[in-house]
Parts: sequence; C-alpha cells; structure tokens
Amino acid sequence: MTVATRCSWCGAPLEPDEGYRAAEIAGERKAAFCRLEHVVPWAMHGAHWEAGLPDEPAPPDPALDRCSECDAALDDTRILLVRHRGEHLVGDAFCGAEHLMLWARAGGRYR
Ligand SMILES: [Zn+2]
Ligand SMILES: [Zn+2]
Repeated sequence: MTVATRCSWCGAPLEPDEGYRAAEIAGERKAAFCRLEHVVPWAMHGAHWEAGLPDEPAPPDPALDRCSECDAALDDTRILLVRHRGEHLVGDAFCGAEHLMLWARAGGRYR
C-alpha cells in the first residue's frame, strides 16, 4: 500500500500526474500542492515541510540554476518546484521559500 501524496496546504489527495511538488534538496524536505495558489498561504504560514525528497526527480534543465523570481544564481540550497502535468514535468527553481511564494502569487510561469 502506498501513501497518497496530499496537498501540504489543503490536504487534497494528488495523483502522480497532477499538482506541484516542491523540494529543498539540501535540506531533504518536500511539500506538495494541488494547485499553484496553495503555495501562497502555505509559505505565509511558515512553510511546513515534510522530511524526504519527492519520488520524481526534477527534469534536468539549465534554467534551474537561477531563481525564477529574482534571477540569482543558485546552489544546493535552492528550492525546486515541479509541475506534474500528465507525463510532463516542468521545473522552476528559487533562492528561497519567499521567492517561491512571490512567484506563485504573481501567477507563476503564466503570469
Ligand atoms: Zn491544495
Ligand atoms: Zn530569488
């Protein structure tokens, strides 16, 4: 029996091919979201991570070397956010939870 992934904010169950997975690789912490909007209240209420890393690695992408919000160069302390959309994984990276939150609040990739 596998434990279903649930949204870190509202607790909605997530299928493997939907929602967003966030990870702080260096800290081996993770979170999941049913939709991008739920990143915002989660981050504003202290960003409660779970231990461990997501099952699915982020797709290799040179864009993950820079913060999607401020364009700062990133190291292993980066936060990754991967959108699961069917078979496609779309990744973004951030210098910290605050910039993840600002980016999500602004509408993410499709602002
Ligand atoms: Zn949710
Ligand atoms: Zn940043």
